[in-house]
Amino acid sequence: MDLEGLQALQEIDIQRDRAIRELQTIVEQISDPPFLAQLDAEVEAQADEVRRAELSAREAHAHVQTAERRIEAADARLYSGTITDHRTLEELQRDLYSQRQQLSPTKDAETRASQAAEAARDASSWLMTLRTNVVDAWNARQAQLRSEQASAQEQVDEHARQIAEVRGQIADEELAVYDQYRRRRPRVVATVTGGVCDECRLMVPTVAVTRARRGNRVVDCPSCGCILRVI
Ligand SMILES: [Zn+2]
Repeated sequence: MDLEGLQALQEIDIQRDRAIRELQTIVEQISDPPFLAQLDAEVEAQADEVRRAELSAREAHAHVQTAERRIEAADARLYSGTITDHRTLEELQRDLYSQRQQLSPTKDAETRASQAAEAARDASSWLMTLRTNVVDAWNARQAQLRSEQASAQEQVDEHARQIAEVRGQIADEELAVYDQYRRRRPRVVATVTGGVCDECRLMVPTVAVTRARRGNRVVDCPSCGCILRVI
């Protein structure tokens, strides 16, 4: 049996297995950003919040304008000279006073609503910046992964090419034995050095070493089951 050839084949097979695992690890990481739906929902919810806050601010502003117009009208009436009745004048003055008293909290409410709208807009723009940044970072990482995937695929292809070449130099019946062994273990052939199997690092019985050295039939390591190659 061409144990040397089979050993060369298994080394490339092992390298190819490793390259395939690396490729799979990379492929598993390639995906659309999983957090995007949640982030978009947050961005949308914040946009709703901005619309609500801006509506409140417009309403608060309108309240102030209405109150100011009322005061102006009452003021004009009071000093128009058309009202001469003492009681009516007094009532009008009381009413104007009360309206002026109420104007201040209305203006405060307007300020608060306007500040709330501003804060909502800030939060919204912060969220959108965050979205842009995380998506950019995700895309950059994905581009890097795709480039890694391309080189990992090249490695796998190169190993496949080498395997075909090496297999072409080995007899079919030997390849059949090799393939049967390799379905059970990554390493098929183990070298015996100084009576020790280099796969399981255990002593091989002398009788097995002697039989393996003769090389006219396949001798397995009693410990790990590899085909023993004595050199
Ligand atoms: Zn062994």
